[in-house]
Amino acid sequence: MLELIKSLSEALNEAYTTGNILSCLKSFFNDIFKASSVSLFIFDESTKTLRDFAKNWLVVENKKDNIYDIWEKLYSSKSYIADGDVLYYPLKEYNHVIGFLKFDNVDNSIIEFLSVTDNLISLKIQNVILSDKMRKNIEFHSSMKNIAKIIETQYEMNYIIPIIGEMIDKFVSEHLVYIFLSTGEGNALELIWPSSCNDEKITELIKVVNSESEFFTTEDKKIGVFPMTAENKLIGAIVTKSMDTSLHKKEIEYIEQLSNQAATTINRANVYAEILQHATLDALTGFYNRRQLEERTKQEVSSASRNNRALCAIMTDIDFFKTFNDKYGHSVGDYVLKMVSLSIKNQLRDYDIAGRYGGEEFVILLPFTGLKEAEQVAQRLRLSVEHTKLDISKINPDVHDDNIGVTISLGVSEFTPSNSADELINNADKALYQAKNSGRNRVVLYG
Ligand code: GH3
Ligand code: MG
Ligand code: MG
Repeated sequence: MLELIKSLSEALNEAYTTGNILSCLKSFFNDIFKASSVSLFIFDESTKTLRDFAKNWLVVENKKDNIYDIWEKLYSSKSYIADGDVLYYPLKEYNHVIGFLKFDNVDNSIIEFLSVTDNLISLKIQNVILSDKMRKNIEFHSSMKNIAKIIETQYEMNYIIPIIGEMIDKFVSEHLVYIFLSTGEGNALELIWPSSCNDEKITELIKVVNSESEFFTTEDKKIGVFPMTAENKLIGAIVTKSMDTSLHKKEIEYIEQLSNQAATTINRANVYAEILQHATLDALTGFYNRRQLEERTKQEVSSASRNNRALCAIMTDIDFFKTFNDKYGHSVGDYVLKMVSLSIKNQLRDYDIAGRYGGEEFVILLPFTGLKEAEQVAQRLRLSVEHTKLDISKINPDVHDDNIGVTISLGVSEFTPSNSADELINNADKALYQAKNSGRNRVVLYG
């Protein structure tokens, strides 16, 4: 007997997860006591359901094999039940039954063995369950931290929403997750993630959510609705739908925490998008920003095409700009950008259009201007930048060199009736590329 206890104890020592603890029990009781099958059920206090260890904690349905009747009997009598070829043996924590083992076709001698080893088995099981829970908790908190970091710095809804969805999915894997967002008109919520929801019950539930709603579930506890609010506004709602289990208390806490964080982020992204809608100028240079530049290019191209008018585009790029950043720091880089844009601005006519295309790349649209004249403008811009005085010590007092200059390379393209706005700009870019490759600080015409 002592030998047997020792070998069970050794086998259990090897088991670290709920999965391998069961396979360890199975092979031990099959080898020694000829059990044809071994199952393990633990009662989950928070949901008042039995959980099947073998099936990854799946809830055991009420009707199945009268298993809840057996559980009731074991729970109150605290002693085993032998029912034909089947043996049910209670597992206890102190004097309190927490679950049971079920054996098929097992030798009767097992009963004596279990009466001395049941505590050992029960302790090991509780241990593994606890460390499983802790691991999940730690995982959740580290994911929570990561997600907070990502969504704190993001304004793009297309990027934020799938991250939130996948994150919740990961922690409530037995539930489907839906994200609804307010469309702005009244309180109507619209499904954003994933792309469709066929459940009419959810469609009905989502209609009653308003800015004062709190978390609620359906009567059968299968659908959970987590409203997202920020600054007293309804931002949206996260909905979970269970395949067969209801939400745990812990899961509800997780999703509530996450939906609060998500509400703040989405609200901020909305505000930012609104600001962007109104912003037209680039803050550093005062030129049009990229979005506005594209808008204006389309307008100028269609106007030139309609009225059969000349139109040219110049694309500029600062030569060796990276060295300013690398040698003197980014604030000097910003200063150089400002000085170059100022120098360009001073050379332009009122109806010319200047925009910041990228980091240190500008596009200048010249309406009513043919290629010859545009080339002259480009040369004027080039010389004006070359003659710009940079007083870098103003920004970085450590720099005493007062002979630092800056140059730009330029590409020029002329609109032809077959050109789209994109082509006009791309052609100027191609010419600029040649200007860079043939030595910089020069103007190259496209074609
Ligand atoms: P090249 O003559 O080939 O154009 O050389 P370059 O060093 O200018 O090359 P590149 O275009 O790769 O370098 C652009 C650099 O501009 C990279 C980026 O770090 C910097 N940059 C982009 N936007 C800004 C900005 O707003 N401020 C500052 N300081 N730097 C910027
Ligand atoms: Mg560049
Ligand atoms: Mg450059």
